[in-house]
Amino acid sequence: MALPQTEGPKRIVLATHNAHKVEEFAAIVAATRPDLEVIGYDGPEPVEDGVTFAENALIKARAAAAHTGLPALADDSGICVDALGGAPGAFSAYWAGHAKDAGANLRLLLDQLSDIRDPRRTAQFVSTIALVVPGPSTSSATEDGSGAVEHVVEGVWPGRLAREASGSGGFGYDPVFIPDGSQRSVGEWSAEEKNAVSHRARAFRALVPLLEEL
Ligand code: IMP
Repeated sequence: MALPQTEGPKRIVLATHNAHKVEEFAAIVAATRPDLEVIGYDGPEPVEDGVTFAENALIKARAAAAHTGLPALADDSGICVDALGGAPGAFSAYWAGHAKDAGANLRLLLDQLSDIRDPRRTAQFVSTIALVVPGPSTSSATEDGSGAVEHVVEGVWPGRLAREASGSGGFGYDPVFIPDGSQRSVGEWSAEEKNAVSHRARAFRALVPLLEEL
């Protein structure tokens, strides 16, 4: 069912069911664009059958925009390990199997890298955000034929992988990721520290100028 914009704050739908991401996103949006009201998406979930972050982000944002009639944001993210040629990448959530077991994912990654020496344990957290604005629009951005305008931006957070997990903060691979310039894993960072510089924060900063179009 389409939910057209009403008077008051501009609404934008966030196509994720990951509570950690909703929290992080809402904090980042509130700090940068307090006039935007971020609402959750509870419509049908598309099959995420892309093999890149951008493909999966677009699949999710297109579905939410089509279902709600509102501008939709979706992010796809993960960790890219240089020694593994960029893997797990878009498969980060399922690296140890479809159970989506964060602990098992992390243990498998550490095991795969057990013989890799410290200087070569470089990795990046990557967040790709797709913004799909239902048409009509006069923007010069790529159009998909439905009149919707689509944008994709990326945030990269470079660092390296620890040899063992530490800290209890964050989620996913946070306990084994040590950002460049830090001696601590993100598992030991506060949420505020992470939100200020994370891959999602960097992607969102790239998105901010595009939100001006809304
Ligand atoms: P997505 O929900 O399809 O984007 O998958 C993201 C997966 O990448 C998560 O399940 C985590 O395994 C990993 N990931 C993405 N962002 C982070 C982060 O900020 N910290 C730790 N792991 C992350």
